Amino acid sequence: MADAAIDRESTARRFAERFGRAAGVIARAPGRVNLIGEHTDYNEGLVLPIATEQSTWVACVARPDLSVRVASEALDELHTWRVDDWRRETSPHWTSYVAGVAALLRARGARLGGFEMLVRSDVPVGGGLSSSAALEVASAKALILLSGEALDTREVADLCRQAEHQFAGVPCGIMDQSISLLAQADTALLLDCRTRVHAYIPLQLGELAVVVVDSGVRHELAAGEYARRLAQCRAATEYFRKLDPRVSALRDVSPATVRAHASQMDPTLLARALHVTMENQRTAEAADAFARGDFTAAGRLMADSHRSLRDDYEVSCRELDALVRIASTTPGVIGARMTGGGFGGCIVALVRRDAIEPLAERVAREYGERARLVRTRPGRGASIEHG
Ligand code: ADP
Ligand code: MG
Repeated sequence: MADAAIDRESTARRFAERFGRAAGVIARAPGRVNLIGEHTDYNEGLVLPIATEQSTWVACVARPDLSVRVASEALDELHTWRVDDWRRETSPHWTSYVAGVAALLRARGARLGGFEMLVRSDVPVGGGLSSSAALEVASAKALILLSGEALDTREVADLCRQAEHQFAGVPCGIMDQSISLLAQADTALLLDCRTRVHAYIPLQLGELAVVVVDSGVRHELAAGEYARRLAQCRAATEYFRKLDPRVSALRDVSPATVRAHASQMDPTLLARALHVTMENQRTAEAADAFARGDFTAAGRLMADSHRSLRDDYEVSCRELDALVRIASTTPGVIGARMTGGGFGGCIVALVRRDAIEPLAERVAREYGERARLVRTRPGRGASIEHG
């Protein structure tokens, strides 16, 4: 990023300039990149995200009344509402994340009245790094401290996800909020989306960086196709549950079992089930490979993941395929795949530092100027920085 990194001192100063008094609490929460494990979350499987070194910071102070005043530097906007009366129709969308967290905290009995809040972030907004989870989690950390409420990490993750579902209207899984809260620097998080059991995978990247390339496109059909994949996964689960009542999600089915039914199953359901079951296996294998420092093996698994998302799960698109092709034929790129839901959005690549510039040049030349590159490293999870 061209800007100087955001820190506690500058955030405290900006808050005081904006609101004319000192911030009581400053909290910070990172964005995330999923290295592998795509469309596995709602199949109760495995994901392997890292937190970004970029974070969203919020500074806030309680007010004696019920009035909420929130300013975001990214949007140069200040919005005001009553903490018990946020309205979707009259509020800008970005306030839904903060309002949702505040309303849900109050709904569980937290003593939270009005407050003033300043939001600052170097996570690209709407760029596929989950600036939304970073905003929810930073807000939750700060408002929980203001209200004196006690929540464990899992409860905070659930509350933030609920805010995203009910207030922002995005039916996300649990990955984004979990990694933002739980991350440790220089590790990836192997998260079991069914049990929430997680393990830290050491990620000594050395000369490598994680590079995210935003394609700059978001295809209209994403939401509809997402719902269709969900339904197809349910249908495939039902197929295997009839054979074995212990199956309650594709997570419980092995690739070998799916292959054994190749000739009987509907070809579309077969392809979807193959992706999910293989992707779970690849994610576990990639965690091992990363832990061993075997980036070549991890890169191969990322390439396999992309092919599977493209051919079996059919959620890639021309632009993502083009970016992955460019990345994977650039010397010094160890692995590349689409990341996120698909139909636009981003690719993630593991790139040797000396290959970042050549990759950026090729992307600009062969893909075009609408692509955005963001370089990151595995950062630490959310924290209270003051208060
Ligand atoms: P992503 O989470 O991948 O960045 P989303 O569309 O899920 O993309 O979330 C982006 C939305 O989150 C923005 O449109 C805005 O409403 C909100 N948001 C995220 N960061 C900020 C910020 N720093 N200031 C204001 N709103 C933000
Ligand atoms: Mg988001």
